[in-house]
Amino acid sequence: MTTTKEYRVLLYYHYVPIEDPEEFAKQHLKFCKETGLKGRILVAHEGINGTVSGTIEQTDRYMNMMKADPRFAEMVFKIDEADGHAFKKMYVRPRKELVTLRLEDDIDPNELTGEYLSPKEFYEAMQEEDTVILDARNDYEYDLGHFRGAIRPDIKTFRELPDWVRSNKELLEGKKILTYCTGGIRCEKFSGWLKKEGFEDVGQLHGGIVTYGKDPEVQGELWDGKCYVFDERISVPINQKEHVIVGRDYFDGEPCERYVNCANPECNRQFLCSEENEHKYLRSCSDDCREHPRNLYIKEHNLTEEEVQERIQQLKVEKVLN
Ligand SMILES: [Zn+2]
Repeated sequence: MTTTKEYRVLLYYHYVPIEDPEEFAKQHLKFCKETGLKGRILVAHEGINGTVSGTIEQTDRYMNMMKADPRFAEMVFKIDEADGHAFKKMYVRPRKELVTLRLEDDIDPNELTGEYLSPKEFYEAMQEEDTVILDARNDYEYDLGHFRGAIRPDIKTFRELPDWVRSNKELLEGKKILTYCTGGIRCEKFSGWLKKEGFEDVGQLHGGIVTYGKDPEVQGELWDGKCYVFDERISVPINQKEHVIVGRDYFDGEPCERYVNCANPECNRQFLCSEENEHKYLRSCSDDCREHPRNLYIKEHNLTEEEVQERIQQLKVEKVLN
């Protein structure tokens, strides 16, 4: 692979015992800052989960440092090229869990987890009969892109997923269940939990969607839309063979892959919206948000109170006419 860009984004996790997450986080933050990285890393007794950005040199230095530590020697780094940093700051935070599931009985993926499927195996399994593909991510992640035919759990956060499964058992019973998520970390626990719940045939996409998109054989095939990521890039392409847009504009339902945050900082809801509609609707998800005294769109565009009212009035009239 020829490298044309000067920066990289690393995505990685590893379930391995870390004795003192607080002390580890402190030391790790110091090293990351000295190295010049930016990003977000979570540390827990059960392991590490991070996304960082930096130059090729900085990211190389980080990976070498981690690989020299026997605890992380086996850790897999997913590497994306980038034009610049994908974060503004560097955080390393001690946490209770790497991914928030809050199970009554926690799952140790080193002891119980679904069958690991390579991208090729996952690709083939998706096309078999009596198979269901279950997206293990949140609804807004699914809405931007997902595997063709995958089930969309109606959840806002990962910790709602077990309850969702319990109330939708009939969709999964007696089937082979294939789970997937961005980098694989959520499925490690979730697929283990499914097995513990009594589902026998559970497979997980090893390395997650991002690995699937880079696999030279499958090249992201059967993925529709883009993949939501938790950094400033917001999304990355996956399917190298065809690009089907599945995202829909929040206001007019037209195909759209552009996420914005609601201009009301107290709402901050993320929704898909064209540039045109961003201006038309003042980048706000509702009338309440449009009229909010701290609305950022109004500030950014120096709109007077009168102008705001006029535009809101216009939208209301249009709504009535439609
Ligand atoms: Zn809003």
